[in-house]
Amino acid sequence: MYLDLDRTPAGRSELGVTGKVALGLGDGYAPEATISGELTLQNLESRVLASGTLQASGIAECARCLAAFPLGWDVPVELMVLRDTHSDETESETLLIMQRDGEVDLSDALRECAALAYPQMTVCGQECRGLCASCGADLNGGPCGCVEEPVDPRWEGLP
Ligand SMILES: [Zn+2]
Ligand SMILES: [Zn+2]
Repeated sequence: MYLDLDRTPAGRSELGVTGKVALGLGDGYAPEATISGELTLQNLESRVLASGTLQASGIAECARCLAAFPLGWDVPVELMVLRDTHSDETESETLLIMQRDGEVDLSDALRECAALAYPQMTVCGQECRGLCASCGADLNGGPCGCVEEPVDPRWEGLP
């Protein structure tokens, strides 16, 4: 996933992005993500802004039943390549890459964006029944035969 500073036209243009990154988020998270989509480039004298929303996909673990399932999520991207490497720009929220010319490797920045946008709670489906708290059986395969604890009456009526 590269942005070629020498070939990017002045003004506005589009950059197609496709690639794979290792997320490194830990257990239960998708270990790697395939990122694809288009970024809008604004090529000004001293800087190139790249922004847009890319799509990421990977194999994640369901938080309820622990099964592996394909997860897709949106990755908002906003980054800036500063060609003026003496600039002291710091206050911006935007990801900064300092490079004067040639090909800029966007992999690290896009990995960061994909990791930041990773969904908080990943389940294989809204209807996933998860695992039985007593015996650990996957309840999506049917009831496990454990007797359910009676519901505390104080909680009844709550959604
Ligand atoms: Zn599940
Ligand atoms: Zn059970």
